[in-house]
Amino acid sequence: MLFHDVVSATLPAILPIATVLLIRQIDHSFIVSRDTWASHYDYIIVGAGSAGSVVASRLSENPNVRVLLLEAGGSESIISEIPIGAISVQTTPIDWKYWTEPQEASCFGFVGRRSRWPRGKVLGGSSAINFMVYVRGNRNDYDNWAYNMGATGWSFADIYPYFLKAEDNRDPYYAYNGYHSTGGPLTVETPPDPTPVARVWNEAGRQMGYRVGDLNGKFQTGFMLPQGTIRRGARCSTAKAYLRPARKRPNLTVVTFAHVTKILFNAHKKAVGVNFVRFNSHYTVYANKEVICSAGAVNTPQLLMLSGIGPADHLMEMGIAVLSDLPVGRNLMDHIYPSIHFYTEEKVTLVQHRVINPVTLLTYIAAARGPLTSLGAIEGIAFIHSKYSNKSDWPDIQLQFISGGPSSDMGGHIRKAMGFTEEFWDKVYKPYLQYDSFSFYPILMRPYSRGYIKLRSKNAMDAPVINPRYLTDERDVHTLVDGMKLCIKLGFTPAYQKFRAKIYETVYPGCEQYLPLYSDEYLACMARTYTQTIYHPTGTCKMGSVYDPTTVVDTHLRVKGVHGLRVVDASVMPLIATGNTNAPTIAIAERAADLIKGSVRKPYRPP
Ligand SMILES: Cc1cc2nc3c(=O)[nH]c(=O)nc-3n(C[C@H](O)[C@H](O)[C@H](O)COP(=O)(O)OP(=O)(O)OC[C@H]3O[C@@H](n4cnc5c(N)ncnc54)[C@H](O)[C@@H]3O)c2cc1C
Repeated sequence: MLFHDVVSATLPAILPIATVLLIRQIDHSFIVSRDTWASHYDYIIVGAGSAGSVVASRLSENPNVRVLLLEAGGSESIISEIPIGAISVQTTPIDWKYWTEPQEASCFGFVGRRSRWPRGKVLGGSSAINFMVYVRGNRNDYDNWAYNMGATGWSFADIYPYFLKAEDNRDPYYAYNGYHSTGGPLTVETPPDPTPVARVWNEAGRQMGYRVGDLNGKFQTGFMLPQGTIRRGARCSTAKAYLRPARKRPNLTVVTFAHVTKILFNAHKKAVGVNFVRFNSHYTVYANKEVICSAGAVNTPQLLMLSGIGPADHLMEMGIAVLSDLPVGRNLMDHIYPSIHFYTEEKVTLVQHRVINPVTLLTYIAAARGPLTSLGAIEGIAFIHSKYSNKSDWPDIQLQFISGGPSSDMGGHIRKAMGFTEEFWDKVYKPYLQYDSFSFYPILMRPYSRGYIKLRSKNAMDAPVINPRYLTDERDVHTLVDGMKLCIKLGFTPAYQKFRAKIYETVYPGCEQYLPLYSDEYLACMARTYTQTIYHPTGTCKMGSVYDPTTVVDTHLRVKGVHGLRVVDASVMPLIATGNTNAPTIAIAERAADLIKGSVRKPYRPP
């Protein structure tokens, strides 16, 4: 037996053990959940995700306040700690494993024309399965919320102090540049060992005429190698950042595997508690002050509707008594992308068998370095303007550079996680299995298409109906096509041509009639065939003025028409942020915790 065969056979066993050792070294104890709880608390928080973990931790800083945090999932998987493995936890038990409804105008290359929607079902929520890219969004996003959309108090100056409060930036290049902070719970680092194809990302940006710099700083438009929510090379979820340090507080109880099925109200429409199911047993707990719903942009609207808060016609159709008639579940937005792939004969990208081997494992364990620290292979980011974007420094496209492609694991897990049809896989990716590939994702930042979340049934255990209605507004296709053209140009810059890279030549099934390859019509067909989510559902419990009929929560995130109930998670964003949504959700939760406590930080706008 060759050494290589021995390694391949024992690797599945070595990897978890090695990871446990590493985690032990990093965090001595990470048991935060309990098996017993009281009947009454001051605050009950539903969902220990990006937002819920923050709110629970901040509220329980006051020893006189009793907080219960209920989470449907369990603890983080040891595999999810390793940044490069981000996609490998999809479809495992820590993922809700949602699918959208069949899409009428998109997703033609996916099984059943459905988009796979992973969401974290675990302490840390989606921050425990995400790709860890740290982006705060654009100043204009928040100013637009505050000044044009009725979300008074959520301008950039209002929220900026909360990005700083959360952050512990450990890269001196960023930490002290005037736009970041140190000492917060959420560790932000720069992955230390980019691949050769990532190292030329900024150079390619310059060759295209863009600036290079901190895209969380003064300007957003430009190129950079991304920072991520990682700590010493391992994932820093909000469970690690906020719950582990609070685990010894006697006034904070965290209960895992607790699936909340209903919010309970008294005769005065005040939320007084919740029902939840844990290991097939049913329980009720009561809140003296408030119930805070942080179940995310899919499950929060589901839970509200199950509890009688939602569109009256839909609730009546489901046989649910209407407590407050609100547009819950509407205004669903997400970020999507098609992909432009290149291939090369050079060994310069992240290919599975070169990424996971004894040397890389030892490097990771001993020094927290090497390819395993890569943010799920996202090694470059940029924000650019398509020809349809006319406002300065409010880009409408984010680019992500992936040092790999769907064929980089030889047709293993990635293809399943993306949900490709057999035909799409065979025709587009299979021919490139023996090459190194890299990919450019042009991501649509402010889609015009809007979708919805509805109940499938009255049963809380049934997945809700998710219909993002991707690309139902033609303008979204036009923007993507322009973004794809920029991606093609990037691949042909001298920086990437050093690798003698060639663009994929395989034809998308169903797009043959739009040939030649990469014509505008063909690109549009590609976008409608490979319509991939970057996993940012938002907006389903829109925040804004109480008088606006499209809003669900007011500017203090209180649900309209009832008392003692707030929503704190990604669902409150009135318009999706320009960028990845984890850091914005955490900042929203930080500010919400202060709103609940009654004193918010002084607004500050950096130069
Ligand atoms: C695969 C993936 C990759 C991503 N990549 C990035 C990235 O690189 N950078 C970035 O900034 N953002 C990324 N995101 C998006 C970002 O992680 C999310 O926007 C953010 O985590 C949303 O936070 P949330 O608090 O709204 O919801 P979540 O973090 O999803 O939290 C909701 C929590 O509520 C729990 N819950 C739900 N229903 C119930 C119930 N009935 N009872 C009890 N508990 C319940 C869930 O199990 C979960 O723990 C990614 C997301 C995913 C899924």
